[in-house]
Amino acid sequence: MKYAETIVDLVGNTPLVKLNHVTSGVAATVLVKVEYFNPGGSSKDRIATKIIEAAEAEGKLGPGGTIVEPTSGNTGVGLALVAQQRGYRCVFVVPDKVGEDKRAVLRAYGAEVVVTPTSVAPDSPESYYSVSDRLTAEIPGAFKPNQYENQNGPLSHYESTGPEIWRDTDSRITHFVAGVGTGGTISGTGRYLKEVSEGAVAVIGADPEGSVYSGGTGRPYLVEGVGEDFWPGAYDPSVVDEIIAVSDADSFEMTRRLAQEEGILVGGSSGMAVVAALRAAKDLGPDAVMVVLLPDGGRGYLGKIFNDGWMRSYGFAPDSEERTVADVIS
Ligand code: PMP
Repeated sequence: MKYAETIVDLVGNTPLVKLNHVTSGVAATVLVKVEYFNPGGSSKDRIATKIIEAAEAEGKLGPGGTIVEPTSGNTGVGLALVAQQRGYRCVFVVPDKVGEDKRAVLRAYGAEVVVTPTSVAPDSPESYYSVSDRLTAEIPGAFKPNQYENQNGPLSHYESTGPEIWRDTDSRITHFVAGVGTGGTISGTGRYLKEVSEGAVAVIGADPEGSVYSGGTGRPYLVEGVGEDFWPGAYDPSVVDEIIAVSDADSFEMTRRLAQEEGILVGGSSGMAVVAALRAAKDLGPDAVMVVLLPDGGRGYLGKIFNDGWMRSYGFAPDSEERTVADVIS
């Protein structure tokens, strides 16, 4: 019989898929690594597994322990999934601007969700940061993974994402492209690929316009999961050869095209990474093999990027108007 012992055993070994349509005019082979094939739906399942295993090994997390993290997104899902399988309690602190759907996903996996007001200063006792610090201090056996600083995040990509890409491209990868959030994906995967290729693989980061990685000040942008207003410890700039800044408009347009033209329904940070990849690929010849990491699926963004009303409310011009029966038969 062929089966996995637990769902967590299915984390990693995500497939590479060639892009065939959005790449018109590009000579290089552009492959995407589709991380929504992970059981929790994103690349964050990888870091959750490694961070929890390391915390156990270091004695920071043990029987009856509680994981406390300020997170509303993919990291929460990954942590909740792994924690549940190992019998830990999970408490996530989320700001009230986070939608009910995202909170519901975390609760569905058995996590407890504490909502904090967005409209208070970071040093207020009610803030997202203060509340998670207080819960970590006061819950016996609490452990805070702190994905922005925890080196086991990049290490998980060094040990899994990098080797998978090297193996699946038959050592032929020449360029690796990933968006930068905590920086864990690009730092760990990039470091492995540079080491194994003796420096032959170029590592390119994609960043929302306005974020610090591409020289901004943290100015707001809408693409989720990437860009920062500070430099996290999980990011190692020495691994990255180039950072390409991408606007929200370009990121969202490409996100929609990936679904419509390639059948790949992914989030906005994936569209952003593909825009950066295609810009970097335009001068490359046919021997170049580029791998672009797509962190999560698009289902969590149906009310935003894939919703024409939401897109228009931010001044974007989507091209998938609802049609009447008369429109489609005329
Ligand atoms: N895209 C999405 C949707 C994410 O959730 C994340 C993680 N914050 C990233 C991209 C960036 O990954 P990393 O934190 O490893 O830089």
